[in-house]
Amino acid sequence: MRRMSSLPVLEYCGRSDTLGVGVDTSNAFRSTCFHSYCENGVWPEATKKLSEQDLTEIRRWKKPTPFIYKKNGMFLELEYSAADKEQILGLTSDFTFLSLDSKLTQEQLQAIPELMTAGHLDMAWEVPQFDLVVISDIKSSIFAVKDKCESLQLHAYGLAYALMKGRSKYITGIWDASEGKHYYGNVTEVNTFDFEAIKERIRTACNNNSDNYTKGTHCGSCWKRDSCPAHLVDLGNENRFSKLFNGEATEADIRQALVDVKGLGELANKVTEFCRDWANRHGPVRSEDGRKQWSAALRSGRKSLDTDRIMLDLGVESLDKYMKEGDEYKVFDWRLLKENK
Ligand code: SF4
Repeated sequence: MRRMSSLPVLEYCGRSDTLGVGVDTSNAFRSTCFHSYCENGVWPEATKKLSEQDLTEIRRWKKPTPFIYKKNGMFLELEYSAADKEQILGLTSDFTFLSLDSKLTQEQLQAIPELMTAGHLDMAWEVPQFDLVVISDIKSSIFAVKDKCESLQLHAYGLAYALMKGRSKYITGIWDASEGKHYYGNVTEVNTFDFEAIKERIRTACNNNSDNYTKGTHCGSCWKRDSCPAHLVDLGNENRFSKLFNGEATEADIRQALVDVKGLGELANKVTEFCRDWANRHGPVRSEDGRKQWSAALRSGRKSLDTDRIMLDLGVESLDKYMKEGDEYKVFDWRLLKENK
C-alpha cells in the first residue's frame, strides 16, 4: 500500500515513500489539530504533542474561507463548515473505491492486500447538480507540491472521492494556509480515455519499488528532503582561505582558492536550494521582526522580441544593423595557453 500523499514524489523516486512514514502520520495529526481549532476557535489539548516546528507552523495557518469557483458555466460557493473533513480514502489496484475505517493505523492499512493506495483527505464537497465532487488539501504553501492542483495526490483523492459518492467529475483544490487562499485545478472527468493516463501514473507510482535515490525537481516536495542521503553536503575546512587575507598567499594558494571557491559556489547553490525546498513545504520564512517574509511568488514569463516575425514584417534577412553592443568587460576564466596546443 502506498500513501496518496507520497504519489507525486514516488512517481520519480522509489526511496521517498519508504523513508517518510512518520512524517505522513504527523501531517495527518497537524490537520486534525487545525480542523479542531477552525471549528471551535481553540487549539485542542493534543496540539501540545506536536513538535515546536509543527506548532509554530500551524499556529500561523489561516482558517479556510468559502471555496468559490466561477468557471465552465458553474458557480460554486462551498462553505468550510459544510465540508466533509478528514475522510479516509482507499483505491484497489483495479481502481475501485475501498471503504476503510478511519481508525486504522498505517501498519494495519499496509496489511490489507487489495489496497493499492490510501490517504486522508482534508476537505471535500459533493455537488449533485453538476454530478461532481470538489476536493481540497490543506498545505503550508501552494508550492509544497510541484504540480500544484494537478498533483497526482489530488487526482488520487479526486478519483477516490468521486467513486465513493458515485460522481463522474471532480475538481482538485489546495488551501494555501499561510497565504489564506484557495487554488483550484481543472474539472476532471473520470470515465474518459484521457483519464486512463492519470490512472497509469498512479499505478506506476504505486509500483515504484526502486531502491535508488532519484534526485530531481520533485525533491522539493519530498518530506525526506531534509535528511536524504542523496543531498548530503560536504562543508569542508572553512579556514582554508586565511592566507589570502593575512598577506601570505602564494600563486599556489590562489590556484587552490580558485578551485575551492568553485566548490563554495556549488555549496551556496545547494544551501539556497535547501532553503527554497523548505519554504515550499513549510511556508514562508519570516524575518525576526515579522515585517517581511522570504517566499516564492509566481511572475509572468519574460517578454522577448520575436526576431523571425520582425524580419518577416520588415522584409529583411537580418537584424544586424539594428543590434546595439555594450562596452567590453572583463571575464576571468581558465584559458588554454598557446604553447600547450
Ligand atoms: S529527497 Fe529526492 S532523492 Fe531523496 S528520497 Fe526524496 S525524492 Fe528521493
